[in-house]
Amino acid sequence: MASQEIETLTAALARLPGLGPRSARRAVLWLIKRREGALVQLLEALDAVRDGLVECQTCGNVDTSDPCGICADPRRDQRSLCVVEDVADLWALDRSRLFAGRYHVLGGRLSALDGVRPEDLTIGKLIERVNQGGIDEVVLAMNATLEGQTTAHYIAERLESYPIRLTQLAHGLPVGGELDYLDEGTLAQALRARRPMG
Ligand SMILES: [Zn+2]
Repeated sequence: MASQEIETLTAALARLPGLGPRSARRAVLWLIKRREGALVQLLEALDAVRDGLVECQTCGNVDTSDPCGICADPRRDQRSLCVVEDVADLWALDRSRLFAGRYHVLGGRLSALDGVRPEDLTIGKLIERVNQGGIDEVVLAMNATLEGQTTAHYIAERLESYPIRLTQLAHGLPVGGELDYLDEGTLAQALRARRPMG
């Protein structure tokens, strides 16, 4: 029987996305064997994340500054806004280096099943950003899931009356595909071939 400390750490790790109890236990044992090395590095990295990261009040990105590095970068095209579900999607798209504009993180997707309503996401804030003007194009880069597409259509409706170009990632994204699982080539292609929302 493992000690309480090990049980507590295993339970905490098992809650991470993609990890279950078995992988969590393996990770804990692996770390225990590396108490002076990998474990110290992990502790320092966790500390740095806890103390050093903030949410950008403009776009919802997570960075060391608010506004984040992307929002504060004057070389970024301010007229182009890419809407994503989660921060992980923003990072995936930005790794492709194909989008030179700025982002808006919704904080999830509409879901009747999970009870996620428009007011639970940052859709109101998005409308506000568009309403302030200076934006020519909004790219809806939702995941190719049913809920992602429902979210995209809902936002398209809300933005219908604004004089902007509304586009979405090209189909060819695998159905059910989550952006942050796609390789950069596929993502870049979907972005390059983006088409009018319809
Ligand atoms: Zn930002």
